[in-house]
Amino acid sequence: MEQQAKGTALVLNIQHFCTNDGPGIRTTVFLKFCSNRCKWCCNPESIHPKPELAYNVSKCIGKKACGLCLKPPCPEGALFVLDGPDDRVHVNWDLASDCGPETTAVCPTGALNLFGHETTIDEVLAEVEQDDAFYRESGGGITLSGGECLLQHDFCAALLAEAHKRGINTAIETAGNVPWEFMQQVLPQVDMVLHDHKITDPERHKKWVGTDNRRILDNYKRAYETFPEKTFIARTPIIPGVNDDEEHIRAVLAFIRPYKNVVNYELLPYHRFGEAKYGFLGRVYELKDFPLPPPETMQRLRAIIDEAFGRTTSPQS
Ligand code: SF4
Ligand code: SF4
Repeated sequence: MEQQAKGTALVLNIQHFCTNDGPGIRTTVFLKFCSNRCKWCCNPESIHPKPELAYNVSKCIGKKACGLCLKPPCPEGALFVLDGPDDRVHVNWDLASDCGPETTAVCPTGALNLFGHETTIDEVLAEVEQDDAFYRESGGGITLSGGECLLQHDFCAALLAEAHKRGINTAIETAGNVPWEFMQQVLPQVDMVLHDHKITDPERHKKWVGTDNRRILDNYKRAYETFPEKTFIARTPIIPGVNDDEEHIRAVLAFIRPYKNVVNYELLPYHRFGEAKYGFLGRVYELKDFPLPPPETMQRLRAIIDEAFGRTTSPQS
């Protein structure tokens, strides 16, 4: 990742009034950069560690009516128009990696956009504190997400320490694929850790998430043991045919149940909300034809978790 200035991070966006990212009403800060490559990722714009050009052709009004992005400082050949009646812009994605705010700022319709910008701790907290009244009312706070927020560990630790000083509850969403030292540095400032157990079988993990899961599982075990006073919630996005089997759910339960600080295990049904963004980034969405998990599957798998936690009804049902 390109080195960010001290006290800054590459942030995608800040989302207000989130209700699924920890207790109460929360403000979620999405940081850019991820060490996994999940084929179902609904935030593909969060993966690469630099700002990225996005292009929505349906908003382009064409070269004749506009054409502003085709003039300098556009990197030569990155944006172009084909001969013919349709004079809307095309992107040569191989040449677009250096497109920056100077390229997108000229676009009057929002067809061109940049995912990711550098932000300071003060800027984030100024926005987060706008929701202060909601936190106090609901027991909410700030959640750092991504991408993998822990890859920008210095920023996360400093931001959450400052949030704590201001009395704001803190949470992170992590997929755990980071050096242990990053987790160890940030967790003292975190009240709740929402952590993914995507796939327990190592070979399937490599195939669908693109990485080895040994470091992830080792990090979680060390985190449960090193920070017994923290609250952990395990989560699995359920992808049909990938991890919607009872074996996976039981393997996760066997992993987490010995630890009293892992207070819940949540299942999140797969969705395709991020599909359009693949097109905006010039990428292919490989799971295009994947079905959504049927409600009966979710119910059956949640029942196994309820039983393991000694509950009769799931809080998610
Ligand atoms: S500046 Fe925007 S609207 Fe104008 S031609 Fe370029 S992409 Fe299309
Ligand atoms: S860990 Fe999350 S952000 Fe990273 S690739 Fe997987 S789904 Fe996307």
